[in-house]
Amino acid sequence: MTTARETFLDEKKAQACIHCGLCLGSCPTYLETGDENDSPRGRIYLMRALQEGRLPLGDTAVRHLDLCLGCRACETACPSGVRYGELLETTRDHIERHHQRSLLQNFLRRIVIERVFPHAWRTKLALFPARLLKRAGVGRLFPKFVQDSLALLPVDLREGKLPEFSYAYGTQSPNLRNGDASNGERKRRVQKRGRVGFIRGCVMNVMFGRTNENTIRLLNLAGYDVVTPRDQGCCGALHAHGGNLAAAREAARVNLAAFAHEPLDAIVINAAGCGSTLKEYGHLLANDPRAAAFSAKVQDLSEFLVAADFHHAAFRTPHPAFRVTFHDACHLSHAQRITHPPRLLVKAVAGANYVEMPESDLCCGSAGSYNLTEPGMAERLQRRKVENLLKTGAACVVTTNPGCQLQIRAGLDKAGATHIETLHLADFLERHLTVS
Ligand code: SF4
Ligand code: SF4
Repeated sequence: MTTARETFLDEKKAQACIHCGLCLGSCPTYLETGDENDSPRGRIYLMRALQEGRLPLGDTAVRHLDLCLGCRACETACPSGVRYGELLETTRDHIERHHQRSLLQNFLRRIVIERVFPHAWRTKLALFPARLLKRAGVGRLFPKFVQDSLALLPVDLREGKLPEFSYAYGTQSPNLRNGDASNGERKRRVQKRGRVGFIRGCVMNVMFGRTNENTIRLLNLAGYDVVTPRDQGCCGALHAHGGNLAAAREAARVNLAAFAHEPLDAIVINAAGCGSTLKEYGHLLANDPRAAAFSAKVQDLSEFLVAADFHHAAFRTPHPAFRVTFHDACHLSHAQRITHPPRLLVKAVAGANYVEMPESDLCCGSAGSYNLTEPGMAERLQRRKVENLLKTGAACVVTTNPGCQLQIRAGLDKAGATHIETLHLADFLERHLTVS
């Protein structure tokens, strides 16, 4: 326990909370525990008490703050505009610099999350023995914590081989309104509309390489050349959410430099968790004028495709018995407030087969690396998500974040619902495209 005192909290932003409690019903941890200390209002109270020295920085306060998913559902619900995510990030940064954690938590946070996941080759190296164990089917011989981690590993793991430049020219049109029909209906070519940058992600490209390749293909089909700079790095989300703002800023600077020389209409990302951090570089690096300009260009794949009219592309309609539902990734629906564009795209394929999921915007328990550091609560929320999903009768759930995809897949497998597919939006769209 330490009694370190320093100003880590923006008092004005914390005082924006008027204690109305309207956020409580949307907070996943409060819904599960019913404990005010596990609610947004309670946590803001704890942060202020730490700041003012009324509460020591010990296990009790840290426990309730650790249990927060950082899902920011409270921000969506808050009538007072409390920027809870910012309060949480600076508090966590303070905690990580002053609070002594257990050996296991230190290993997970400082080594696995901060030093392994942001680097593709380290992730591949670390996953190699885990994949062997999973393939051998001997996970049950290990403690539950290891079993749960193995359950998250995708069976079909493939690194993305992404070209640095991928051109729209020569791509056959998916019957978009902007398609150039001058060559005749059967040989329509995409009309080039511009050039975008693509953030491949670190974990995303190692575990979901095919999704990245499909994303680039969709962008080409929409008429955009795609630039994927080789020297880009981790977006910094893992560090920012874990309480290491200095490392997050360093990661942001690497990406500012990597994209500095390309004239781009937008910078597209297909992982919601990364997208929200990329859009907040202006806040993270407030003194660097390049940061706000970079953030202004960042767009989630779903919002970019809808703006490009891609929901009017020609898709094959699934079989009437194939029901499809959608799970809102927290960092898309709450942090970026994007809920309509991905639904528009899913419905463009599914039509009447689309079914809304109860509590679709309630966190699935993945929350970046939360399912590693807080496996107990992560599992409760995973179960809740799977129960809601099963109520829809869907054969496929679509989402926009790799962490959610892994968490829901593992939950469905645990529940014996192996027949239900979990797909990233890019894979779902690509699979159902008809290209003339
Ligand atoms: S809704 Fe906003 S103002 Fe009301 S208690 Fe929650 S955080 Fe505070
Ligand atoms: S970020 Fe999510 S878990 Fe944390 S207080 Fe807000 S709603 Fe609750």
